[in-house]
Amino acid sequence: EINRMNEQKVEGRLIVLTGPSGVGKGTLLRSLMQSHPELYLSVSATTRAPRPKEINGKNYYFVSRPEFEQMLKADELLEWAEYAGNYYGTPRQQVEEKIQQGKWVILEIELEGARQIAKSFPSALKIFISPPSFAELEKRMRGRGQDAEDAIAKRLSHAKTEIAAADEFDLQIINDDFDTALHSLEEAIFNPTQP
Ligand code: 5GP
Repeated sequence: EINRMNEQKVEGRLIVLTGPSGVGKGTLLRSLMQSHPELYLSVSATTRAPRPKEINGKNYYFVSRPEFEQMLKADELLEWAEYAGNYYGTPRQQVEEKIQQGKWVILEIELEGARQIAKSFPSALKIFISPPSFAELEKRMRGRGQDAEDAIAKRLSHAKTEIAAADEFDLQIINDDFDTALHSLEEAIFNPTQP
């Protein structure tokens, strides 16, 4: 009996977290990872320039366009998308390795990538993080003061498309109150059958 249960446990799981830029996914995830270090947060490759305080290999693998295109050609990406003029993609090897080790892997990716994962990993748990309102999202995005105005405009237009697709996900969590949203996220991952 016990052996069988252990065997069942050795089967990783893929969790996709999507939501518009500025919705607070990053903050939720940092908090989640702190209380659940057994989860593995995938590190994406991107051609976007690093923001202040971002560390190569930790927040992202910052690569050039030719480097990214090389990864694509070599089929090294599990999914990828172009977002606000930059490429983003999930390196395949790290994710497959962790899942084989029985770890749960979280991908924090945008809509197009989430759709690709839904096709290639139908059993992935897909969670969408929504803002309480579009106006609040706009306020948060400008409030973080980390992007230029043209980048904000691109992100806001992308956000509209993403919010319209929220019902493609298994579950939607509204990030209004941070603690409530974090609790919902934990429940979704660890107690998926609980109401
Ligand atoms: P940011 O530039 O704000 O870090 O990320 C912009 C968007 O790209 C966010 O919605 C983020 O979730 C998404 N993103 C980050 N990494 C990946 C990735 O590997 N693949 C895809 N498809 N989207 C990603």
